[in-house]
Amino acid sequence: MNTNRKAARNSSLMQIRKGMLWIAVIGAFLIGIRHLFPGEAASGGAFDAFCPFGAIETLWAYLVRGQTLKTTNLFNFAILSGVLAVSLVAGRAFCGWMCPLGAVQEGLAKFSRRLAGEKRHIRGKPSQAQFPLRLPDWADRPMRYAKYLILAVVIFASVFSIYPPLHPLCPARAVFSFKLNTGLMWSVLIIFIITSLLVERVWCKYLCPLGAALAIFNKISPLRLSADFKACNHCGRCDIECSMGIQDVPDNLSDAECIRCLECLETCAREDALTLRVDKH
Ligand code: SF4
Ligand code: SF4
Repeated sequence: MNTNRKAARNSSLMQIRKGMLWIAVIGAFLIGIRHLFPGEAASGGAFDAFCPFGAIETLWAYLVRGQTLKTTNLFNFAILSGVLAVSLVAGRAFCGWMCPLGAVQEGLAKFSRRLAGEKRHIRGKPSQAQFPLRLPDWADRPMRYAKYLILAVVIFASVFSIYPPLHPLCPARAVFSFKLNTGLMWSVLIIFIITSLLVERVWCKYLCPLGAALAIFNKISPLRLSADFKACNHCGRCDIECSMGIQDVPDNLSDAECIRCLECLETCAREDALTLRVDKH
């Protein structure tokens, strides 16, 4: 494929990704709005019932007690099955292409970048981007493990729970459900917005237990990015643009943190240095 066609294809993929994220955000807001109307929550399930992570939270209760936790139902399992099917094929692509919370974080990071007078996607040119911030290595690396710890704690807590353990602290509920009826929910919303303005995809990088659960699929999924080290000149541009802050991107394309957002592919100016392909193993 020649360079122009390849650049056009990468740009189209990015447009499709952004379109899917918009659909996810609008869908989440519609679900939230729907629950503002009297009687709807009772007839159609609570906001949590549309969350794939709700299935992980309620799995134990369903297996052992034969009933789901309050605010979840069997629909959670259907949604999780869809997310797992995507993950089997494309790793953590759900986080980069379909998660409404990921989309909001991207929007906030973009806003923050604009406020700082900086841009993304200056093809092949080094960026002096300062915002959103990158945490120093000594803080970033250990904090990445927090989401695995949260996943383990939530699964353990679900054994003794009536409600999903993450229910009172879930930023998706705070952002999309329009039910900010406690001080805690307001705090979650405000902290989520401020930290997402400061650090790109802060929730995905450090805290999201669903992202932690899906990370393993990056090692086994056939649809993945690959690098050609004859073409790559190690300019570091992809490291700067990586929304998950992965270092040495061409060497770490199967990293558990990669959300298949394709920002690296979009920004790389070297033909064939990075390719999206199906790996036959
Ligand atoms: S893949 Fe190589 S050439 Fe392309 S942006 Fe990354 S470091 Fe630069
Ligand atoms: S390595 Fe590329 S695809 Fe993966 S998160 Fe970073 S920019 Fe996105």
